[in-house]
Amino acid sequence: AEAVGGGDKEAVRAYFNSTGFERWRRIYDPATDDVNRVQLDIREGHAQTVAATLAMLRDAPDVPLAGATVCDAGCGTGSLSIPLAAAGASVLASDISAAMVSEAQRQAQAALAAGTSPGFRMPRFEVRDLESLEGRYDVVVCLDVLIHYPREEAQKMIRHLASLAGKRLVISFAPKTLYFDVLKRVGELFPGPSKATRAYLHSEKDIEEALRAAGWRVKNKGFISTQFYFAKLYEAVPVAAASS
Ligand code: SAM
Repeated sequence: AEAVGGGDKEAVRAYFNSTGFERWRRIYDPATDDVNRVQLDIREGHAQTVAATLAMLRDAPDVPLAGATVCDAGCGTGSLSIPLAAAGASVLASDISAAMVSEAQRQAQAALAAGTSPGFRMPRFEVRDLESLEGRYDVVVCLDVLIHYPREEAQKMIRHLASLAGKRLVISFAPKTLYFDVLKRVGELFPGPSKATRAYLHSEKDIEEALRAAGWRVKNKGFISTQFYFAKLYEAVPVAAASS
């Protein structure tokens, strides 16, 4: 895999249908031992982001998860979609990568068959990119996807996602601070086999501005960091309804 840049969507799609799929499937699957130390660290960081997202959504009295409509934009292997479905949410799980979507579907079927959550509602799975998402959902979630979007496109995407959401928008992104910028540059000096697509970091200011422009405000923030994984997690609400 060679480095690609410029927010090239076709390259991102190709990557997540091939080497990227294999790499991230292993990282995200706690049942897989076939990961190195860095990947294991990323798995732990990502699991914390998923757990923090679930905690935010479980704590929202105005949006009970059971029966809520949720759009998991860029669902990957279903790390978030599946626990949401188990909580009784009606989930649209979509991703640009067909390989990711079929893996998410397989894992959801296994979770359903395991029968541990009687309220499990099978998510609707769709292969589609974020740009083509439409409809209205109580909750829109987009975890660890904006890393594939350059600055302007990320801001545009946030406005698009906000237009689909009624009550909550939860997004995570890799924060662009001096320290992480340096770390990323060091990473670029030593491009290992895992460095197949460009990573875009975002400043909190940019993300907050995009939310504000869309008529949303940040209600809750989280920061997840392990040795190799960093994510800001924002829970946003529409300004008009922001009395809490
Ligand atoms: N959100 C999932 C999670 O946190 O477990 C997956 C995160 S993974 C790092 C990034 C995912 O974004 C990949 O599954 C990739 O295929 C998807 N993706 C990247 N660009 C996308 C786009 N333009 N539209 C939809 N999905 C996209």
